[in-house]
Amino acid sequence: VKRAGRHDYRLFTAAMHLRAARHLQLVNLLRYAIERDQLRVVYQPQVSLLDQRIVGAEALLRWSTPELGDISPVEFIPAAEDSGLILQIGAWVLRQAVRQARAWLDAGLAPLVMAVNLSATQFRNTDLPELVSQILFEEGLPPEYLELELTEGVALHDPQGAITMMNHLHERGIRMSIDDFGTGYSSLSHLKKFKVYKLKIDKSFVRDISTDAEDKAIVSAIINMARSLGLKTIAEGVETAEQLAFLQQQHCDEMQGYYFSKPVAPLEFQGLLEGGKLL
Ligand code: C2E
Ligand code: CA
Ligand code: CA
Ligand code: CA
Repeated sequence: VKRAGRHDYRLFTAAMHLRAARHLQLVNLLRYAIERDQLRVVYQPQVSLLDQRIVGAEALLRWSTPELGDISPVEFIPAAEDSGLILQIGAWVLRQAVRQARAWLDAGLAPLVMAVNLSATQFRNTDLPELVSQILFEEGLPPEYLELELTEGVALHDPQGAITMMNHLHERGIRMSIDDFGTGYSSLSHLKKFKVYKLKIDKSFVRDISTDAEDKAIVSAIINMARSLGLKTIAEGVETAEQLAFLQQQHCDEMQGYYFSKPVAPLEFQGLLEGGKLL
């Protein structure tokens, strides 16, 4: 049995206090992050397995503050969620990404699908379909060039609500994919009803794919299941040639990861696009 002495208790509450204070500080700084021009979007290529061409980009948010330096989205997205700021920030990211996709089309670069992450709060907001349509219209991007990434966990939290929202987005021609797939135990019956067109295999399964027999089996099963449901697959977190070889052998459709490129600034991404193949 763990001994919870007075000293441990003090350390525990001190740590909790620190975390709460940091959280509060983040929320306060985040409130002005947009107007202070501290947010930017970086883009990571999504690569077709068939010919190694860039067919998509994932928009990922970055935040730099004079007060605390660079803060990871893993830390500030939850703070943005809790404070409700995510609606404003999420709309901002969406517009930046859609505008960027339009700019690359205008520059005559090969068309790609722009993937943007959706948080739980955004997905539960009944105004979402209208907002997305409005941004696409204002920026002049046809909906087939956009894809919204929703984590499996958020989709499964309220499957019935998720189905309704996906149907509304689908009616407007807005595509969805399921992020971090494999971590949330979706059943086939859910997947059949979810209006999604792509599953994004979580990087925790991809990591040990060349050595771990269980991870091999899981990834292979996901790809086969997706194919039989008419869904595309993308693997995230691809870092090595061995992982690539296995995914190729399993006929995964697309890949994303440091092996091809880390997330980069728009200008650098454009350079990758102009270069054509990534390998
Ligand atoms: P995610 O959506 O699962 O994004 C993938 C994360 O994996 C990104 O981290 C990406 O930089 C990282 N990554 C890419 N390739 C590799 C690789 O080969 N190996 C490894 N180990 N990691 C790789 P990042 O940019 O730090 O974002 C972390 C999370 O923050 C994202 O996870 C997403 O949940 C959230 N996030 C980021 N931007 C946004 C946003 O605009 N909106 C929302 N709602 N969430 C965001
Ligand atoms: Ca994602
Ligand atoms: Ca993911
Ligand atoms: Ca994730």
